[in-house]
Amino acid sequence: MHKFLLAFTIFISASLSAQKTYVINCGKLLDSKTGVVKENQHILIKGNQVISISSSPIQADSVINLSDYFVMPGLIDCHTHVLLQADITSEDYDVQILKESIPYRTIRATRSAEQSLLNGFTTIRDLGTEGAGFADVDIKKAINKGVIGGPRMFVSTLAINTTGHYPIKTSDYAWELHLPKGLQEITGADEARRAVRQQIEQGADWIKIYADRGYYKLADGSFRSLPNFTNEEINAIGDETIRSRKKLAAHAMTRDGILGAIHAGATSIEHGSGMDEECMKLMVEKGVYWCPTLFVNEYVAEGRAKMGSPINLYFKQSIQSTFKKAIAMGVKLAYGTDIGGYDWSLPQAKDFTYFVEWGLTPIQAIQTATTTAAELLGMQGKIGEIKEGAFADIIAIKKDPTKDISVLQNIDWVMKDGKIYKH
Ligand SMILES: [Zn+2]
Repeated sequence: MHKFLLAFTIFISASLSAQKTYVINCGKLLDSKTGVVKENQHILIKGNQVISISSSPIQADSVINLSDYFVMPGLIDCHTHVLLQADITSEDYDVQILKESIPYRTIRATRSAEQSLLNGFTTIRDLGTEGAGFADVDIKKAINKGVIGGPRMFVSTLAINTTGHYPIKTSDYAWELHLPKGLQEITGADEARRAVRQQIEQGADWIKIYADRGYYKLADGSFRSLPNFTNEEINAIGDETIRSRKKLAAHAMTRDGILGAIHAGATSIEHGSGMDEECMKLMVEKGVYWCPTLFVNEYVAEGRAKMGSPINLYFKQSIQSTFKKAIAMGVKLAYGTDIGGYDWSLPQAKDFTYFVEWGLTPIQAIQTATTTAAELLGMQGKIGEIKEGAFADIIAIKKDPTKDISVLQNIDWVMKDGKIYKH
């Protein structure tokens, strides 16, 4: 799969010079903000920017003919791990952390980043390198310098947890071994502040924390867990992050992690599979986004249950009603997959199908990965929309995703920053 894609994709990129203008003739064009689809539109591009959109033909140096295609803004995945290659079981994880060097993992990550672009996700927020240091900063740098092809990246480097609460997953290694850590451990508010400062110094755009662990289900069907941080620690992280004009993303499954993370100033709750109504209410009140990462839970549930951990199966049973409740209450939904947690060769656009099955219109589902995701990233008007002044991050599909959302799993044509990466 990878091999095939690589052969025909690496920089088909008609290298578009900054001075030349291009017009894309679109059969259909989606305005992601309003949800309106217009026929026979023309997009004028110069360098990496959209100059204008018109319903009458535009003169330009070159023409890109997409008159048989549905054209829309490049998608945004707010939760990825380019440095992970699926970790369904503890062994999968341990093999990557213990047997693969960081340079080797980084080479593999260049393929993940390219895969994301080919999947039509022209922007990603990568939430933690899982033991690969600050290699995400290097991947981002290589993409921005044109060394490799890949999406626009927002990175969070190491991620933060408290001492002892994020072991290499199988805990049967000899205690005298000093094993590498999948993230940065802290104890106390001072170490919390130090970790945030160090990560920002090394290039983190976001701070990622793991707010809870040890999830369990109560007899009434609700979920609880163990909070990882003291209030002092999590508030120090939030304070340090916000004062540095950065944002906080919190892995949090139940109220034990979610409420503390929101009070500490988190911008997004990752997974949140076991959230309750009090969490939803507070999220709405504070404008906190939810990245529900649905397919990954489904994908790992059986395998982990076989290994003796059935919690993902329980989440799988309850997530549909949790999702519907959250949407009814008005929780803001940002598209995030956790791909890397599952294999990069599997669909990155699978979560859309759950969204639509569970009550969103196809347009609303697309907005989670365009306009809403752009807001989460503070990039409104620059990505997630095709409009004057936006980056030329544009994708096209033969079929119409407003009629069948699953067609987003096979994107036919991809442009990022005015360069074509897939036709
Ligand atoms: Zn993740």
